[in-house]
Amino acid sequence: MTFSYPLFDMPFIGIYMIVLSFLFGAVFASFITCTAWRVVRGEDWMLGHSHCDTCGHELSTADLFPIISYIALKGKCRYCGSKVPPRDLIFEILLGLLFAGTLALHGSVDAVVVACLALEMLLLGLSLADWDSGVIPDGFLAAILVVWIMTVGFVPDMQRYAIEGVISSACVGLVMAIGTAVIGKVKKIKAGYGPAKLAMCLMLFLGFKGSVIAVGTGIVLGIVFALVCKSKKKKISLAPAISFAFIAAFLLRDVLAKFAV
Ligand SMILES: [Zn+2]
Repeated sequence: MTFSYPLFDMPFIGIYMIVLSFLFGAVFASFITCTAWRVVRGEDWMLGHSHCDTCGHELSTADLFPIISYIALKGKCRYCGSKVPPRDLIFEILLGLLFAGTLALHGSVDAVVVACLALEMLLLGLSLADWDSGVIPDGFLAAILVVWIMTVGFVPDMQRYAIEGVISSACVGLVMAIGTAVIGKVKKIKAGYGPAKLAMCLMLFLGFKGSVIAVGTGIVLGIVFALVCKSKKKKISLAPAISFAFIAAFLLRDVLAKFAV
């Protein structure tokens, strides 16, 4: 069973959907940045209310509208007046733009684009968690696998999508796992397998072409991020590099498909 609704057959509907996806992106960014923050601190991520980090005052629904609350309160806590860092606002706008851009480039609503939007949200969360703690939480990886299981049956050309995904995942995962083991042995450090596991999960969603783009971009970005972490004297976190590479591969594949003769 597959479904695919072209976006621009009726331009008004297309523009409406893109604006809507921006709003969804902002809302989901607000949710996932909060979740990542709680996972890193070992707090319960499902229950518990959001609170101001300075005064601890519980935030009301009116304080939690993405983007709008921040602008209305001029970036300050309503209760104690302390400045709220703009980090969350930036991620809300970024994920909104990413959602809108992904939908516009893909040009139709189908299982592939639904999976990509869900992944973009999860990747933002796990990248933040990795950047703050140096560990990629397994819960996020499990969520990525759930997205694959729930969408794979609805993808056009499902058999090829599934076979190419599983082969790419096995190859990239194996090479990265061996690489991690070798680096750990040579440098006599305990290198984590988080990046290998993450790449393995993500490759399920890319065909052979997309995987080649992702691996190429991932190597370049991985080196850049490793150098940035070194210069900041923090634990190397590769999740942001792998996430960027995956999203770039997904979007580039769509662009290439559009302009291919
Ligand atoms: Zn406060």
